[in-house]
Amino acid sequence: MRSLNVMLIAMAMVAGCAQKRGAESDEPPMAELALKNGAIYTVDGSRRWADALAIRKGHIVFVGTDKDLAAHVGPQTKVIDLQGRMVVPGFQDSHIHPISAGIEAVSCNLNGLETPEQYVAKIKEYADAHPQEPWITGGGWLMSSFGPGGRASRELIDAVVPDRPVMLSSTDGHTTWVNSKALEVAGITKDTPDPVDGRIDRDPKTGEAVGTLQEGAGSLVSSKAPEQTPEQLQAGLRYSIKLLNGFGITGIQDASVDEPDLKAYQAADEANELSLHVVGSIWWERGQGLEQIDNIKRLASTYTKGRVDARTVKIMQDGVIENYTAVVLEPYKLPGKEPSYGIPMVDPEKLKAAVTQLDADGFQVHFHAIGDGAVRQVLDAIEAARTANGDLGHRHHISHLEVIQPTDVPRFRKLGVVANFQPLWAFADPYITDLTLPFMGKERAQWIYPIGSLYRSGAVVAFGSDWSVSSANPLEEIEVAVTRMGPLGETKTPFLPTERIALPEAIAAFTINAAYVNRHEKETGSIEVGKFADLAILDRNLFDIPATEISDTKVLVTLFEGRAVHGDLTAL
Ligand SMILES: [Zn+2]
Repeated sequence: MRSLNVMLIAMAMVAGCAQKRGAESDEPPMAELALKNGAIYTVDGSRRWADALAIRKGHIVFVGTDKDLAAHVGPQTKVIDLQGRMVVPGFQDSHIHPISAGIEAVSCNLNGLETPEQYVAKIKEYADAHPQEPWITGGGWLMSSFGPGGRASRELIDAVVPDRPVMLSSTDGHTTWVNSKALEVAGITKDTPDPVDGRIDRDPKTGEAVGTLQEGAGSLVSSKAPEQTPEQLQAGLRYSIKLLNGFGITGIQDASVDEPDLKAYQAADEANELSLHVVGSIWWERGQGLEQIDNIKRLASTYTKGRVDARTVKIMQDGVIENYTAVVLEPYKLPGKEPSYGIPMVDPEKLKAAVTQLDADGFQVHFHAIGDGAVRQVLDAIEAARTANGDLGHRHHISHLEVIQPTDVPRFRKLGVVANFQPLWAFADPYITDLTLPFMGKERAQWIYPIGSLYRSGAVVAFGSDWSVSSANPLEEIEVAVTRMGPLGETKTPFLPTERIALPEAIAAFTINAAYVNRHEKETGSIEVGKFADLAILDRNLFDIPATEISDTKVLVTLFEGRAVHGDLTAL
């Protein structure tokens, strides 16, 4: 008996070893989740399609045919029949403000309203419902609701909230609309000079502030408002994560973070609530110089971990065209006024020094540049960094790019600069027809949001929403990139049609190219073996529908690292 037992044990050990060896080398371990019978648009190097994929431990372990999938399916594998539905890599938004947008969405939210009367009614409703709040804050109003220049008056708010400060940012974040109480608290009178990085809109006769504060002038008031608490930041972020996952988004570049924001991301990641890969662009204080880099380095090393990467710095080089603060090479066409070239936020020589140092220190720089003058100043600064440091591969990128001189277009590719467009702005809405074109002149009007030109030049083109400035839904933005028409049927004629791009290019700009900007293209951005299983299942195939229907597409399920963070796989 004894010898038999020993023999059996020995046999079992041999069998066990063989099994174990097989599990580790010969046969791949079985997948936890498999998707079959789909139209999987992989966005790999050759833009291949596949029927099936398999996921294990948050990563993609197989992409291919339904037939070959069988080798990855074991008794424990959950197999989902996609019934032909389209799957794309999780979208990545290269320029977005999720925390402030989330907070705005849960405060006095004017997004979606259009007229001054609607705004005032909403402000009153919110103030009445929140009598205990010492300040009324929020935003989302459109400059176009108030005509050229977008000057909203303080008296409109005074009529409904005279006793508490009210501070509301425009939907693009460049203008702050305040009531008289807020001006009083901030000590703004007709004698207050304009700050270097902004403008107090004034009554031409009395010199009194009218109620709109452009660009940096807004901080005269916001610096007096109570600071947001960590709980408010986290609540805003939580709102946004859910919304973004619902749009199929699994990665973002937050276009402006400070330390409290980074703390909010870190807290969410540690609580395992951060179903997004996040790059945070640390705000460059334009009133300071190179001395701030030590603190930026501290933030980067403290907060770059887990799903958060804080090795990017955001430099805002100009304002926007609608309030004449974008830096332009030819003056704005403003009859009867002094020639104005906009407001350069950082002196161009100081910009060169800053970018050269940040580049040498391992930082990626994310620029805001709207006017052709600001775009050129930024390209010059990156060129200076390249000349001094060589190509360190940091993928500096310029957001917005409303007007680019044709001679500057080839410089993006030459300098390895990514063109980070917000394509939802590239159709003839009132911002363009009423607030931009009249002040730009005929020639420059041909160079607005030149996405196609940049693409054809060989530059990397990536997309972002700038939410809460505009919708965070990538499918609306992809539609405009392809059609140059309003995604909800607002316009029926393509705006500068030669600047349209094809659907595969637009999808790439929201997936693999955005992952490239985020320095995360080895882990995300396409559906390939070894990458995170970040993907979105759509209710229709984007290649089978008219381009004008792209924005009607719904995301049924979003997977983040293999886990459903939106929708229900079993309900497909
Ligand atoms: Zn932005």
